[in-house]
Amino acid sequence: ERRVVIVGAGMAGVQTAVALREQGFTGAVQVIGAEPHQPYDRPPLSKAVLLGTAEGSAFDVDFEALGIGLRLGVEVTALRPGAHEVDTEDGPVPYDVLVVATGARPLALPGAEGVRGVHLLRTLDDAERLRPVLAEKHDVVVVGAGWIGAEFTTAAREAGCAVTVVEAAGRPLAGALPAEVARPMADWYAESGADLLTHARVGHVEPGEVALEDGRLLPAGAVVVGIGARPATDWLAGSGVALGPEGAIVADDHLRTSVPDVYAVGDCASFPSARYGERLMVHHWDNALQGPRTVAAAVVGESPRPYDPVPYFWSEQFGRFVQYAGHHAAADAMVWRGDPAEAAWSVVWLREGALVALLAVGRPRDLAQGRKLIESGTPLGPALVADPAVPLKSA
Ligand code: FAD
Repeated sequence: ERRVVIVGAGMAGVQTAVALREQGFTGAVQVIGAEPHQPYDRPPLSKAVLLGTAEGSAFDVDFEALGIGLRLGVEVTALRPGAHEVDTEDGPVPYDVLVVATGARPLALPGAEGVRGVHLLRTLDDAERLRPVLAEKHDVVVVGAGWIGAEFTTAAREAGCAVTVVEAAGRPLAGALPAEVARPMADWYAESGADLLTHARVGHVEPGEVALEDGRLLPAGAVVVGIGARPATDWLAGSGVALGPEGAIVADDHLRTSVPDVYAVGDCASFPSARYGERLMVHHWDNALQGPRTVAAAVVGESPRPYDPVPYFWSEQFGRFVQYAGHHAAADAMVWRGDPAEAAWSVVWLREGALVALLAVGRPRDLAQGRKLIESGTPLGPALVADPAVPLKSA
C-alpha cells in the first residue's frame, strides 16, 4: 500500500486526510504540522475565539478512528523528490504521495517586526495573545482595512477598545472590490466607532505609539497588522516544485505540482481556472474544503473532473454577514440589487449576460441562488437582476 504524507495540519491538510478515507484509501496517511496544537479552524480566530466566547476551534475529526497519523509541532524543512523524502527536524520521512498544504503566512509590517505590542492574526497563538488586549480595552491601531482588519476591528470595538485603522489605499478592501462597492463599507467603520484613516501610511512603530508618514502620532496599546499573506513555500526552494507569483505553488487542474507524486492544495497553491480563463490563488476556507476532494480522488486513482470551483467566502464584520461567490474582472458589468445605505443589499457582475460573481450583504438567499447560477452560466435579464424583490433564480 502507498503511504501518503501531508505537510500542514490546517483545513486543507486535514480535509485531504479525511477525503482520502472517505474515498476508500486504505494506505497509511500521515499529517505533519508545525503548530503544536490539535488541528483547528481559522475563521473563528478573528471572531468568537478572539472575544473569548469560544475557547478554541479544534476540528471535530476523530483522527485515530480514521487511521490518520498526526505529527504535530514538527516543521518540514525540505523536499527531496529524488529520494521521495521530506526532511523534518526529527529526520527524514519517506512518502509515496506527498500533499503540500502549508497554507499562508501573514506579511509583517516592515520595520515593526519584533516590536513589543505588534501582532499578526493567523494562528491560535496569535489570537490568544490578542485576547488580553481586548479584555483590557487597550487602544488599538489596526494596519490594513482588509478582511482581517475589518473582523478584528469589529471584535475590538465590541470589546470596547478605541480603534484606529490605518489604510494606505483610499478605501477598505481596495484589492478585492471596486470603489463604489467598498465606499459603503467605509461607513461601517465609522458607525462602529472606529476611526478609519485612508491614504495613510505607517512611518514607524515603537512600543505604545505608531507614527504615520505624514507625522501624525497614534497611541497604540497594541498594533494589529493585517496587510495580506503569502504562501508558506520557502521550504520548497530548490526542490524542483515550480513556484509562481507571490511564491504560490503552480498546480495543474488536478492540483498536481510540477514534481511527480506531489500535490498542492489550499492557500499555498494556485490552479488554472477554465471557468475564469486565468490562474487563481484563493485564500479562503471553501477552497481548503473543496480542493482536498480533487486531490484525494486523484490519489485513489479515479479520474476526477478538473478542479474548477466557483470560489466562495464569507466575512462577519460590523454586525453584517458579507458573502462573495465567483470571480469578477474590471470589464464585467456591475449591477446593484438594492441600496447600500440599507442593511441588506447585493451586487452582481455579469459577463455576456451571465452571472460571474456576486457580493451579498445580509442576503444569503441571493448568495445561494447566485452561486448556482454562476455554476450553470445561465443567461439573466439585467433589468430583473437589478430588482431586489425578484429572486435571482427567476431573473
Ligand atoms: P492554513 O490554515 O494556513 O494551514 C497550514 C498549516 O500548515 C499551518 O498550521 C502551518 O503552521 C502549517 N505549516 C506551514 N509550513 C509548514 C511546514 N514547513 N511544515 C509543517 N507545517 C507547516 N476564510 C473564509 O472564507 N471566511 C472567513 O471568515 C475566514 N476567516 C479567517 C480568519 C482568520 C483569522 C484567518 C487567518 C483566516 C480566515 N479565513 C477565512 C481564511 C481560511 O482560514 C484559510 O483560507 C484556510 O485556513 C486555508 O487553509 P490551509 O490549510 O490551506 O492553510
